[in-house]
Amino acid sequence: MIPARTCVGCRTVFPQPALRRFTRGADGRWTADAGRRADGRGTYLCSRACAERVAKNKRYPGFNVEALLQW
Ligand SMILES: [Zn+2]
Repeated sequence: MIPARTCVGCRTVFPQPALRRFTRGADGRWTADAGRRADGRGTYLCSRACAERVAKNKRYPGFNVEALLQW
């Protein structure tokens, strides 16, 4: 069974493989987690538009242009 995850940009539930995972490291920087194995809290996004929305959300400090470049 494929796990379902919620995109934090639009709050839509998708099968996990359809989403891109980002994790926030101890240094506060967000990185795209291609292997989906990095430690830390994962954030799932369905689209670049949602990533841009999250970049403006204060709940995700540090999720900025640098993180978007990894899309
Ligand atoms: Zn979304």
